[in-house]
Amino acid sequence: MTRELFREDGYLRECDAVVSEVRGNAIVTDQTVFYPTGGGQPGDSGQLLRADGAAVKVTTACKDAQDGALLHVCEGAAAEDLPATGAAVKLQLDWPRRHRMMRMHSCMHMLCALIAAPVTGGQISDGRGRLDFDLQETVDKEELTQKLNRLIAENHPMEIKWITADELRAQPQLVRTMSVKPPLDSGRVRLVHFHGVDLQPCGGTHVAASGEIGAVRVAKVEKKGKRNRRVAVVFDE
Ligand SMILES: [Zn+2]
Repeated sequence: MTRELFREDGYLRECDAVVSEVRGNAIVTDQTVFYPTGGGQPGDSGQLLRADGAAVKVTTACKDAQDGALLHVCEGAAAEDLPATGAAVKLQLDWPRRHRMMRMHSCMHMLCALIAAPVTGGQISDGRGRLDFDLQETVDKEELTQKLNRLIAENHPMEIKWITADELRAQPQLVRTMSVKPPLDSGRVRLVHFHGVDLQPCGGTHVAASGEIGAVRVAKVEKKGKRNRRVAVVFDE
């Protein structure tokens, strides 16, 4: 199993690692800073540096659907350019992109806190994020934009806490997103707490305080079915 360093520290931009397996055009390592696609957040991109200094582009990171191995996908790389099993490498994120993901993902926690309805889905991409709410009434774009920016400007600090699966089962109200089940099998559940705003299980990457999200704007509120409202947010810069 790969040690997922980003779960404890979302600000790590690079790490040393040892290749534990080469699987087609993908590399598995003993530890990583690369977030794999999941929970509505795309996998990180960046590069891996071989011991001889040669750089190999990592186009995305994801988990193998069969065994859950964390794959650093090197699309387009020639087989002979990939490091061999046992090789020491350095893994480096495309940090500006990851940081935008952290900001937008954190913004989704603000959004979630402002609309009192169950979340039925969500997705972020570079510079844009959306949540679907089980909600009949429509939402005022301008008002929501103002409220979001207020929560952001208030600079609420984020803290990560771990609880047991039993503790989560005792507090089912913590689970806001019906489509993404928190990982209960590991026995530990990761809670993300934006103080004074939002507390819920989440495996994604977040900024240290909401002020780091920067100015945002509600780009679109769409009606998706009778009880569904899709709210899309973009950076306002
Ligand atoms: Zn999150």
